[in-house]
Amino acid sequence: MTGVEYFYNDLWSKAKNRLKDDSSIGKLVYETYFEESNLVFLNEEKAIISVPTNLQKMILSQKLTLIGNVLSSILQHNVDCEVHLDQEYFKASSQVDEIEEEMIEDDHVMPEYSFDNFIVGPSNKEAHSAALACAYTPGKFYTPLFIYGNSGLGKTHLLNSIGNYIKQNDPHKKVFYTSSTDFVTAVVNSIKDNSIEKFKNKMNHLDVLLMDDIQFIAGKEKSHEVFFNIFNELVNNKKQIVLTSDRNPSEIKGLEDRLISRFSSGLSVGMDSPEFETALAILKFRLEYQAVDASMIDDDVLSYIATNFSKDVRKLEGALNRLLFYSINFSGSERIDFKVALAAFKGTGSSDKNELSVNKIKRVVADYYGLTKQQLTSNTRTKNIATARHIAMYFSRKMLDLPFSKIGDEFGKRDHSTVMNACEKVDRFLKTDMNYKQAVMEMEKLLSNN
Ligand code: ADP
Ligand code: MG
Repeated sequence: MTGVEYFYNDLWSKAKNRLKDDSSIGKLVYETYFEESNLVFLNEEKAIISVPTNLQKMILSQKLTLIGNVLSSILQHNVDCEVHLDQEYFKASSQVDEIEEEMIEDDHVMPEYSFDNFIVGPSNKEAHSAALACAYTPGKFYTPLFIYGNSGLGKTHLLNSIGNYIKQNDPHKKVFYTSSTDFVTAVVNSIKDNSIEKFKNKMNHLDVLLMDDIQFIAGKEKSHEVFFNIFNELVNNKKQIVLTSDRNPSEIKGLEDRLISRFSSGLSVGMDSPEFETALAILKFRLEYQAVDASMIDDDVLSYIATNFSKDVRKLEGALNRLLFYSINFSGSERIDFKVALAAFKGTGSSDKNELSVNKIKRVVADYYGLTKQQLTSNTRTKNIATARHIAMYFSRKMLDLPFSKIGDEFGKRDHSTVMNACEKVDRFLKTDMNYKQAVMEMEKLLSNN
């Protein structure tokens, strides 16, 4: 469905809801004559409704004033209504003139992204709140809004959420979403076929320009020029521009200074990797969305994914999909426990970060006590080896938030209760033994500096 079709459908279903409840129509008449109608055209003054049969056309024609009033009140400006037969309208519309053709053109906003399916946490709350402000009052506060952050953190999602929100709340606003790569291609093509003025004109008449991954415009001089002009025109007219990039404006190499300073003239907000709680909330949301019963999955499995794949949300979703795929296709049991998870991620190389860090903990703690890493995972229960092992387990839990069972695996296949006891022991000693506390703090420092 194109953006325009989406908008027409949405608008008309709102109008139909009101018509259904109107006492002058009634349920039976509504269902017989109105239900199958569609909104097929809309401009500043006129709306065209299309129906399949002559009888429906006659009945709806009796109610043109009411339909017009309903539409006008939703749109908050006056429109007149006409009713056409489907066959008449579609025949006539094959001769649409140029302006109508432009109106029907796709705005490229992706309907699947909305504020409703965006999870907010400390890592993205600034960007979310600025985006929502732009959606709510386009052009008023922050234009341009510049959102930057690494790949997979939700920039494209937020950008399209703005577009969908505005389209829904103010269908009159002309919204356009484009990646900077598509923008450059459009500039090049319109120069080639002599239509650059038309292209600029179209852009200059937008209310909302959403441009994704602006870094790819770097080094494209002609596009800089065209974009600079469009940018100024829109900002001067208090239109909304939102840009995204993988880094902040001053760090984009190959961008003209005047563009950098323009980009920085509104508001710049960054996005970070989701922290544990946000990652977990996203996972739970995805499960619900995919209608998967979350109680089938052990808590420590979700914690494991949230800890190890949260560098970006795309990876997080990928890991969850992999887990579900694996458990459906290769696992004998219905429950997804830690064993299933480990098997699903075995050999993917994705949990490197985790192994690396456990390794680092082992190395630092072993060095501190003058031991080897092997001694930490061995069966030896000598006092200082056991103490070192407990502390290393404690760090793995505290700093990596790994499940007890996973830590047990890492330290010579011990079971999860052994690890739990070890962590409790360390906690106890930390409260009662000052020398012990001192040692743990020193190791912690070494770990964070290493
Ligand atoms: P970017 O444009 O920053 O590279 P995307 O917007 O394409 O990232 O996000 C990657 C994926 O992660 C998309 O499927 C998106 O819906 C999802 N996503 C990102 N952030 C969130 C969030 N906070 N809540 C829900 N889904 C998210
Ligand atoms: Mg993106």
